[in-house]
Amino acid sequence: MKQSQLFTKARKEAPADEVAKNAKLLIRAGFVDKLQAGVYTYLPLGLRVLKNIENIIREEMNKAGGQEILMPSLHPKELWQTTGRWDTMDDLYKVSDASGRENALGPTHEEIVVPLAKQFISSYRDLPFATYQFQNKFRMELRAKSGILRGREFIMKDMYSFHRDEADLAAYYEMMKGVYARVFERVGLGERTYLTFASGGSFSKYSHEFQTVTPAGEDTIYVCDACRVAVNKEIIADQDTCPSCGKSDLREETAIEVGNIFDLKSRFSNPFKLTYKDEEGKDQTVVMGCYGIGLGRILGTVVEVLGDDNGLVWPQAIAPFAVHLVEISSADASVRDGAEKLYNDLTQEGVQVLWDDREARAGEKFAESDLIGIPLRVVVSEKTLAAGTFEAKNRATGEVSMVDRAELINMCTTQ
Ligand code: ATP
Ligand code: MG
Repeated sequence: MKQSQLFTKARKEAPADEVAKNAKLLIRAGFVDKLQAGVYTYLPLGLRVLKNIENIIREEMNKAGGQEILMPSLHPKELWQTTGRWDTMDDLYKVSDASGRENALGPTHEEIVVPLAKQFISSYRDLPFATYQFQNKFRMELRAKSGILRGREFIMKDMYSFHRDEADLAAYYEMMKGVYARVFERVGLGERTYLTFASGGSFSKYSHEFQTVTPAGEDTIYVCDACRVAVNKEIIADQDTCPSCGKSDLREETAIEVGNIFDLKSRFSNPFKLTYKDEEGKDQTVVMGCYGIGLGRILGTVVEVLGDDNGLVWPQAIAPFAVHLVEISSADASVRDGAEKLYNDLTQEGVQVLWDDREARAGEKFAESDLIGIPLRVVVSEKTLAAGTFEAKNRATGEVSMVDRAELINMCTTQ
């Protein structure tokens, strides 16, 4: 894509009321726009990153047998009364229309997915299965100061699994721990993300969170380096040793919850009487698991963890483009031709290129390129054309190399 055609632009300053590093950088670089506290628009560059994250998650959920659906945001009050959460969930947005009919704006979808599943489950033969969606959630977050990490409206992948008994749920739940670890590995957060034992509410001893270590986090966790697992401080009172190996010298860290898996068991199947007939024709309760990941939460966490003084730094797998082709404006038409040729060559090889074809000073272009954070910056100028090479700079390491066309294409297609 030609940068001259991008309708958004980088900005000198982030809004004065924005305190979070992720939002400041993303707004300055033109990835998101703030509509109000906790509510953001994804602009073309930001949406490309979000879609890359979405596709990684989708691939992993499909591999785990998940079937994608899309449920609505507007939920009849009656369903939320059935589980009692209309009255007990304090961050629930409630809206009423002119006729007085009340709805919830969905903060999660157990109240919708269980009655949905009930229509299709009658026998043990209909189980197990898992279904998921990417969908906007609404939560009346009081502390909406963390940029896109804590939205009042945000996109979540939520998956729900349905099983005939706890053993089947437990096996699937164990498998999902690995699936989640792979998602965080692929989006570039693997090294700093820990499977974390957290409180499981009244129905199970633990739920599991995936916590990424960053000063921007709102949670305190205790990490066991030997096992690469952690314990959330909220439950440390009854768990001050590693739940995996029993070691007691755990390391305290600040972290953000990027994902959560929960064995709901019959918490939601009971109120909706979600049952199936077993081999003897006897009614049995369906048990469930749920598995959430915030897409904006991942995106913002990547910015918090990898962003540096000069701006954003994207891991290859989720970067908006693979290459930022920076053309140094010149009166010599051969520079434009050289840039265009390289743009076409790379594009033909399937490399996603953002081509800075605008009339601007080199220094300004370089600063903006660092701010946008595309993994590889390639400069085409009178100098590089005369030398017959291109200057390639790795955004993360700052390493600069002079490469010819073939080397460059090789670099971009093997990363
Ligand atoms: P937190 O403790 O941070 O409020 P939560 O326990 O309420 O999170 P869940 O209900 O388990 O979160 O939601 C599943 C996932 O959705 C979380 O792991 C997180 O990635 C994401 N998420 C939750 N709340 C928000 C939010 N307000 N903005 C963005 N993402 C969110
Ligand atoms: Mg919450």
